[in-house]
Amino acid sequence: MIFLDSAATTPVRREVLEVMWPLLTGDFGNPSSHHELGESAKRSLDAARKSVAASVGCRASDVIFTSGGTESDNLAIKGLALAEPRGRHIVTSAIEHEAVLESVDFLRRVHGFEVTVVPVDHRGLIDLEDVRAALRADTTLCTIMYANNEVGVVQPIAAIAELCREHSVPMHTDAVQAAGWLPLGLAELGVDALSLSGHKLGAPKGIGVLIVRGRRALEPVIHGGGQERGKRSGTENVAGAVGIAHALALAESDRVARAQSAASLRDAFAADVLSRVPEAVLTGPAVPEAVLTGPAAPSTVPQSAHRLPNNASFCFPGTSGESLLLELGRAGIICSAGSACAVGSDEASHVLVALGIDPAIAQTAVRFSLSGDTTAEQLATVAAQIETAYRAVRSLSG
Ligand code: PLP
Repeated sequence: MIFLDSAATTPVRREVLEVMWPLLTGDFGNPSSHHELGESAKRSLDAARKSVAASVGCRASDVIFTSGGTESDNLAIKGLALAEPRGRHIVTSAIEHEAVLESVDFLRRVHGFEVTVVPVDHRGLIDLEDVRAALRADTTLCTIMYANNEVGVVQPIAAIAELCREHSVPMHTDAVQAAGWLPLGLAELGVDALSLSGHKLGAPKGIGVLIVRGRRALEPVIHGGGQERGKRSGTENVAGAVGIAHALALAESDRVARAQSAASLRDAFAADVLSRVPEAVLTGPAVPEAVLTGPAAPSTVPQSAHRLPNNASFCFPGTSGESLLLELGRAGIICSAGSACAVGSDEASHVLVALGIDPAIAQTAVRFSLSGDTTAEQLATVAAQIETAYRAVRSLSG
């Protein structure tokens, strides 16, 4: 099997499992219990919080453990927007994850918020002037993702955060896909809130982090026993917290080298695919204008500072993403059809449509996302299999 779906999830790293194991077995206390077992769990939780804070450069008290990226986004958006007395206006982008879009829509439907959706260009990039124009005196929150899960576009988050600061608007970013590949230093990013998910990083599914800096008010979304200083009730997932803290520290320790190596492997892979299947279109940043209307020449695939190092997403006009996925699956290659915008949906991806791609072409999308362990040999095999699968699907569709 060749796994090229790391943007969907990653296996738990052995080192992460090893630090979690004692907390799932002998040292299994509830951190709220006032006995030695509980106090030991509390010490582990505190240490995990400090470790996350050190990885991203914030105070331990800014770290809230959640059940994953979806909950972090929900808590950030509903929690910050509802606690902020400035008004009822939110700014977001057209290519956010559903966890963001649906949370924003909830505020619109149930709490009467006005929403300004900032557009993106054909690469998926936001124009800072559009953000500037969107910010108002009654804007409660600006939420714009760091890196996109489908086409890998990386937004100029520090510059957007600076604009927000100038307008005194709190800024949240969904950094779920960026973690492990891009710098997460909060001082450099300048955001007020940031979401992370464990299972994209070599920690288990069901654990996430929301950072909310400083003393910003946050309305809880989950009510109960007052854990996480009242911001997220529910008995803490101590092993998960220790796991995500360790995974984050490990990912950060070799991030730069891993990102550089993935980017050059990815660029060679993209060039290989485009030379084997000249009809294919690399979607997202570093795409020359020409490929939106015609085939790309392999020499036009430069490295891009605006693209996640591990992402290569294509459309294969004249096929369907799902059929290609099946063909590739038969050859032992695991990747993702970029077209489904949510579980069970066969609508064209809102991300690709926002990039100006024809909805019919958007249905032919396939996303390949590398891990730190992906090799050049694997990618050469995959590129050859893509060509075979493409010819097979094209011949079937006449
Ligand atoms: N945000 C982005 C950008 C994602 O890619 C994902 C998951 O794919 C999420 C949020 C949701 O994270 P989780 O699966 O931990 O709920």
